[in-house]
Amino acid sequence: MLNSEPYQPDNIFAKILRGELPAHKVFEDDVAVAFLDIMPQSPGHTLVVPKLASRGLLDFPADGWGPFMGRVQLVAAAVKKGMDAEGLSVRQFEGAAGGQTVFHLHFHVLPRWEGVALRRHADSVEKPDVLKAHAAKIRAAF
Ligand code: AMP
Repeated sequence: MLNSEPYQPDNIFAKILRGELPAHKVFEDDVAVAFLDIMPQSPGHTLVVPKLASRGLLDFPADGWGPFMGRVQLVAAAVKKGMDAEGLSVRQFEGAAGGQTVFHLHFHVLPRWEGVALRRHADSVEKPDVLKAHAAKIRAAF
């Protein structure tokens, strides 16, 4: 079933993609942009956002998945290496009831360490200096 709501081009991630809002970018090519989540659930929490516009998973074009998931994998590898993480959680929230708050498709890449719990989703804003330092580590890991 396709997503019934129309895509809104004034969402925060569309503005970041157009360069109208700043972001701590770690990766960008013709398919996707990746940048740090400003309210990280773990240090180095990164969002991978396709340049193709869709609200979520259900309305994303079928032939876009191969290129986009390739970028999710590439970014995930750099996040794990750059943050020296033991593992990763990769998440996607679909619709408000599913926990989605920004309605442009994105995957969360969360560095994980054994026994360390995640912070709550979209809870508190991280200091810009911390985000800057984590972005530099991840960028250096590609
Ligand atoms: P979701 O709830 O899956 O739609 O995730 C949206 C994510 O975007 C949340 O984890 C927020 O912390 C994050 N977020 C919101 N505004 C920004 C922003 N300007 N830059 C980076 N991340 C953001």
